[in-house]
Amino acid sequence: MEGREGGNGTRLAQRSRFISAVGAGARALADLLLPISCVVCERLVPEGEQGIVCGHCWSRVRELPHPRCQRCGHPLGNYACQWCKYLPPFVRAARSYCWVSPGTGGKIIHALKYSQWRDVAPPIAQRLARLTWPDDVVEERAALVPVPLASSRERERGYNQSALIAGGLCARWHVPLWDDCLVRARVTRTQTELTPGERLSNVAGAFRVRDSARAKLRGAHVVLVDDVVTTRATLGAGASALFDAGSRIISYVTFGRAAAAGDRVQQ
Ligand SMILES: [Zn+2]
Ligand SMILES: [Zn+2]
Repeated sequence: MEGREGGNGTRLAQRSRFISAVGAGARALADLLLPISCVVCERLVPEGEQGIVCGHCWSRVRELPHPRCQRCGHPLGNYACQWCKYLPPFVRAARSYCWVSPGTGGKIIHALKYSQWRDVAPPIAQRLARLTWPDDVVEERAALVPVPLASSRERERGYNQSALIAGGLCARWHVPLWDDCLVRARVTRTQTELTPGERLSNVAGAFRVRDSARAKLRGAHVVLVDDVVTTRATLGAGASALFDAGSRIISYVTFGRAAAAGDRVQQ
């Protein structure tokens, strides 16, 4: 695994140097001479495809099906939406691109979070930019705020995956990235190990807003960005901190969403 990633990483750097040195036509030659293997399926990324996740894997990502709830973007069954009734009233809207479990969406996030594949973030942002929102959200959104990692975890990883995704989306939405607003107030346990009830108490009060960010947050509608939403507990804790610091309203965007009981997820 280590060797494969090292090879891909070196090759990516060699490719970009090669393409910038040789100019037009270089990409085709680079495909031939410096092939990249897909970080999800490990097969060679076919000639002409860009990025480090192959087109076949992207085609296997399960987008959230329609019809979806206007507010939270969750697929609707025969009943009223059960997903957004737990969102705080100051959360205007939420959107996610795909299911993460089961499926390829989760593997893509895993590559971004745990395998040092920062290059997975731009194609994720590209897909998030396709999501549609209520008109008022599009008109009002003032900035994107990534959910912060604990500083020890960010040092270990070398980056915050949510900030990478948010950065790519900012460029497409033409709004600023406010990655200096929220900080972790304390270290929390990894949410994946916990029951839904434990998750809530694990993250309650986990975030605080920097004093220097209060002025720009006042009255603003900001969009909180995370890689995945499972129980809404982490996003809820972040949103509460932003709201308490003066934000008027908050929306959420994540790449992945965990299916809840009763959701129809195609395998
Ligand atoms: Zn693949
Ligand atoms: Zn809903």
